[in-house]
Amino acid sequence: MKNQITTSARKSLEKQQYRLVGSHSAVKVCHWTKSMIRGRGGCYKFKFYGIRSHQCMQMTTSLSCANRCTFCWRDYKAPVSKEWKWSIDDPEFILSNSLKAHEKLLIGFGGYDDRNDRAFKESKNVKHVALSLTGEPIIYPKINELIRLFHKNRISTFLVTNGQYPEQLRNLERVTQLYISVDAPNRELLKEIDKPLFHDYWARLRKSLEIMAQRKDRSVIRITAIKDLNMCDEEGYAELIRLGDPDFIEVKGYMYIGASMKRLKRQNMPNHKEVKEWSSKLLKYLPDYELVSEHKPSIVTLLAKKKFKGKTLIDFDKFFKEVITNKP
Ligand code: SF4
Repeated sequence: MKNQITTSARKSLEKQQYRLVGSHSAVKVCHWTKSMIRGRGGCYKFKFYGIRSHQCMQMTTSLSCANRCTFCWRDYKAPVSKEWKWSIDDPEFILSNSLKAHEKLLIGFGGYDDRNDRAFKESKNVKHVALSLTGEPIIYPKINELIRLFHKNRISTFLVTNGQYPEQLRNLERVTQLYISVDAPNRELLKEIDKPLFHDYWARLRKSLEIMAQRKDRSVIRITAIKDLNMCDEEGYAELIRLGDPDFIEVKGYMYIGASMKRLKRQNMPNHKEVKEWSSKLLKYLPDYELVSEHKPSIVTLLAKKKFKGKTLIDFDKFFKEVITNKP
């Protein structure tokens, strides 16, 4: 079995409360899952889309990535690669063992005085998976089988990709909500910020955006706004956004955390007011979109296509009916 990470990297991740599942997957309880169990509120996706944060499992099927983004909290010891060169774990194995590892990590919450009993009880019944924890989940060769398994178990799927794998995206099973990270408005700045391994990184991102525009998933372009670095060239962003034609745009302030503190400064972390002001500047180039929501604790704004009339919550029953009957 060829593991994706070394024993020392595994140890360091486990110290950070990750649980490795098999040779290339991992789970970690999200801050907001804990927060919801303790009655302190859910994440911005709870507010924007109806994700029940206490019933959400944060995971990845690949610890490896093809970018080394300056704003990423991961340190540069994390595995990077352009192609898959490891063992391929079975989707059933990943599903059942990820749920087990997640539930085990939550046991400790039973001891908190301020726990919300109902939320704690419900947290054992996972309803949402966020395939975004770290690395590039989309490169796991059996990602489609796993996504179908999640849906069969009525677990919704949010998948985040940095757009460096257009072919995998073209062949990807429909997910509940698809994210492409757009970290810069032009080729030069993208290279500086994402430090991509692929030499044709710009063409790959643009191809992925074109594919996103043709897909049936609910779609989101996520911009990580880094002050004094990429909160600029709104026209460049607008051109990329038109290419991807997403339903939603999330403008999320960069967080000065983890290993990113070795690469960026605290001053690069915008406050909520700055993110909101910049979102309004961006909207000037996007007449089809409007600002519909925000979440101050996460320093994030939500821009949505006007066709949604501000109604952005997900009808999960309708989604499962569609994907299980395979009728768009
Ligand atoms: S959707 Fe994301 S932020 Fe919200 S609870 Fe799940 S992993 Fe956390």
